[in-house]
Amino acid sequence: MSAKNEDSLKNIISHAKEYGFVFQSSEIYDGLSAVYDYGQLGSGLKNNIKEYWWKAMTQLHENIVGIDSAIFMHPTVWKASGHVDAFSDPLIDNKDSKKRYRADVLVEDYMAKIEGKVNKEIKKAEKRFGDAFNEAEYRKTNGRVLGYLEKINTIETELKTCLEENDNNRFKKLIEDLEIACPVSGSRNWTDVRQFNLMFNTEMGAVAEGASTVYLRPETAQGIFVNFLNVYKTGRMKLPFGIAQIGKAFRNEIVARQFIFRMREFEQMEMQFFVKPGEDKKWYDYWKQNRINWHNALGFSENDYRFHDHIKLAHYANAACDIEFNFPFGFKELEGIHSRTDFDLKSHEEHSGKKIQYFDSEENRNYTPYVVETSIGLDRMFLSILSKSYQNEKLEDGSERVVLKLPHFLAPIKLAVLPLVKKDGLAEKAREIMNNLKFDFTCQYDAKDSIGKRYRRQDAIGTPFCITIDHDTLNDNQVTIRNRDTMQQERISIDEINNVVSKAVDIKETLKKLN
Ligand code: ATP
Repeated sequence: MSAKNEDSLKNIISHAKEYGFVFQSSEIYDGLSAVYDYGQLGSGLKNNIKEYWWKAMTQLHENIVGIDSAIFMHPTVWKASGHVDAFSDPLIDNKDSKKRYRADVLVEDYMAKIEGKVNKEIKKAEKRFGDAFNEAEYRKTNGRVLGYLEKINTIETELKTCLEENDNNRFKKLIEDLEIACPVSGSRNWTDVRQFNLMFNTEMGAVAEGASTVYLRPETAQGIFVNFLNVYKTGRMKLPFGIAQIGKAFRNEIVARQFIFRMREFEQMEMQFFVKPGEDKKWYDYWKQNRINWHNALGFSENDYRFHDHIKLAHYANAACDIEFNFPFGFKELEGIHSRTDFDLKSHEEHSGKKIQYFDSEENRNYTPYVVETSIGLDRMFLSILSKSYQNEKLEDGSERVVLKLPHFLAPIKLAVLPLVKKDGLAEKAREIMNNLKFDFTCQYDAKDSIGKRYRRQDAIGTPFCITIDHDTLNDNQVTIRNRDTMQQERISIDEINNVVSKAVDIKETLKKLN
């Protein structure tokens, strides 16, 4: 990560803490690695993101329903899903620094460095050639760039083989051949590569004897698969239909850095879309488009999102891609879209001995539906929004302000109510106004410090509007409303506040863009 990007991530982390968005878990005990708590504002933002996803899925699609399944599941579920045997990452340690790494991530970071060199060449050429510069042509013809791209290609092919064949020796050799050094010690003194299962387990039952090992679910999807029959039958569902779920997942990640990007306890928003076999490709394309639209509707730059096809397909998939987001540490996976075939339902049928099929009344036959899944990490979504919203603005008068330009409907506080002074009945008037508005949106009352300081505090937490109650308010029934983004102030009547704010913060306006 470049120093500038590192600073920007650091700023976001300290801002998130200072204003009550995200805290390290068990901080008074020096924290628990890769586990975080959401504070008074973070939980509000998180809930609003959930609502956006949930409504986009279950309210805008009449054939998608939501469930909430338990975290603990029968241990055989994880045998059937393949997680007991195959949910592992290749692990490698540096003997000098004693730091542990994911072997595939070391290689990916190495490739990203070469990609950085390509981008540098392109930037240089862009400067040199000005308007006449044609990037696509340059990529195809410039010798140095071609050399870099070929190198990336060769490494990627080798990485794919190592991953597909779970070949630990080959992996070690790749790391040695590329002369990858530990970022901490700078040495190439590596242990062998070994596989590490990411599932947490615990015992269920009062005594260890006779107790059975259960897992903390590493994904929410299996709770959907094992409820397929329940929902299909009780909901009288017809293909194609989807089941959505938001919930916690747990993974004993080898390397958990980068704040809430990679956690050991996190939250997923997953949707399994069941389709007729043969229609999976069509629906895979549909969901790719649908999900990118969902991201773009937030209004951040479309260039900050890109698709990345998986180089290694999971054991269950016939097509898979990620939506990557331009995080402060570069483009990384934000969401996965996977065409999972009939692998899961078939496997649960086999392991449970229950028939898990769909009856197609038009064709008068039973079959196992295929599945297209969309799976997004809520915490990663939170980080993506926070990192794009966080801005350090230079103002015309030379001063600076930190402002969170959150999409209005996601802001945890929608309106701040600020009496200019506490005396002369202004505080009472402000309370009266807030008591009327609190039924429509979350308001915050603040009477402390100068009005300028109060505005800055609200900017820092992303509150779209502030209203100020002054002495004139008592006579003319008007307040000053200030817009977070433009900082413009306007006088409006108290009766209009609800209308102005509601219109701007209503989730409906964003949902409508998705239709
Ligand atoms: P990665 O390659 O980054 O480990 P993954 O491919 O294992 O991710 P999936 O199994 O596809 O991830 O999970 C779906 C989504 O869940 C991811 O796109 C991501 O947003 C989220 N996610 C996965 N692991 C974590 C984690 N440790 N912390 C936070 N979010 C996670």
